[in-house]
Amino acid sequence: MDKIKMITPLVEMDGDEMTRILWSWIKDILITPYVDLKTEYYDLGLNHREQTKDQVTVDSANATAKYGVAVKCATITPNQQRMSEYNLSEMWKSPNGTIRAMLDGTVFRAPIMVKGITPYLPAWTKPIVIARHAYGDIYKAVDMKVGEGKAELVYTDRDGKVISKTIHDFRGDGILCGMHNTDKSIYAFARSCFNYALSVKLDLWFSSKDTISKVYDHRFKDIFNELYEREYKDLFAEAGISYNYTLIDDMVARVVRSDGGFIWACKNYDGDVMSDMVATAYGSLAMMTSVLVSPTGVYEYEAAHGTVTRHYYKYVQGEDTSTNPVATIFAWTGALRKRGELDGLADLVDFADRLERATIDTIESGYMTGDLAVSFRLEGVTPTKLNSQDFLKKIAERL
Ligand code: NAP
Ligand code: MG
Repeated sequence: MDKIKMITPLVEMDGDEMTRILWSWIKDILITPYVDLKTEYYDLGLNHREQTKDQVTVDSANATAKYGVAVKCATITPNQQRMSEYNLSEMWKSPNGTIRAMLDGTVFRAPIMVKGITPYLPAWTKPIVIARHAYGDIYKAVDMKVGEGKAELVYTDRDGKVISKTIHDFRGDGILCGMHNTDKSIYAFARSCFNYALSVKLDLWFSSKDTISKVYDHRFKDIFNELYEREYKDLFAEAGISYNYTLIDDMVARVVRSDGGFIWACKNYDGDVMSDMVATAYGSLAMMTSVLVSPTGVYEYEAAHGTVTRHYYKYVQGEDTSTNPVATIFAWTGALRKRGELDGLADLVDFADRLERATIDTIESGYMTGDLAVSFRLEGVTPTKLNSQDFLKKIAERL
């Protein structure tokens, strides 16, 4: 059989620990036997980030902006303990944070659904994709504890003109918080959401609290509406999808009653909270994919989970591990499919579809990793727990 050819390289960002091990197994067992894989390789493993003074992360983000599609392995975000473990000269920043800031992107998280793993809300038969705005609000706020006195919101424009409003006249101790966002960031967020909805052909919902936050949250609502009316309405109609705005509390009620199958765009804090709730409700962090979409239409695919440190330490001791590779496989298929679509390679798109199908069918026929085996319930199927490599080989047999 001839291998499937590629035209433009994928930007490949290698990573750390157990996911780095899975990364090479996935390539060897499931991809390179079928695809003449063309990648531009960046090693974002912590040792190489240290050697390059983190320049490799910046280079990989620039390459992603240049080529348009990247696939990323999970990476360690250093803390104090990692400083000594890896003998670091500096506490390098989170690669995801660096890449997100450079591409000005929005992160979309979507669950991979299989029969036998039932969401805690069994009515959710289709995925709910959460889009979280990743800039500002309370994450870039200044706050303070105060005593008796008057708090004011003061703004000085470039000509020195001052506008001030009283926040509260304190008669006793209390707390204060000042937060902001920028039109630029909100437009970028809205644009990423509209582009992603078109790319996956799902309805888009945006929610905020504009009835109470009449200027702040209302600005988000207005920007989404303006952009939709001006640039996306016709494209959405052509794609047969819709854009809707509703209050956050109404949205929560709708989500719980729904059967899924839509994108929920959230302000920063709402997205933080709701993405954890939704991920948990679907059953497993190991079955959650994540894609960063920039307002210019650049895509970076990854698994939502981390480097699975506990499993890696066992692996290093020579123990067999049953780490779930599914979200990392889907990061690869997402990136290969997008590359295929952009380059007009129908067989590459088809390969991505087949690899996803083979992965899901393998689980539904009873072969899976330990994290799934404990909660798998499907009439007539007895789950068999496999180690990571045997699970990948089972998928390859089907493929
Ligand atoms: P984690 O790697 O997601 O793992 C947390 C726990 O979740 C694991 O110990 C395991 O539970 C379970 N788990 C996660 N993924 C799994 C999989 N594929 N298969 C089976 N079980 C899985 O999170 P963490 O331990 O908090 O973080 C570890 C490292 O990852 C940290 O250095 C952090 O900085 C980094 N991180 C990176 C990213 C990223 O690059 N996007 C995201 C998050 C964290 P059991 O131990 O119970 O089996
Ligand atoms: Mg959170």
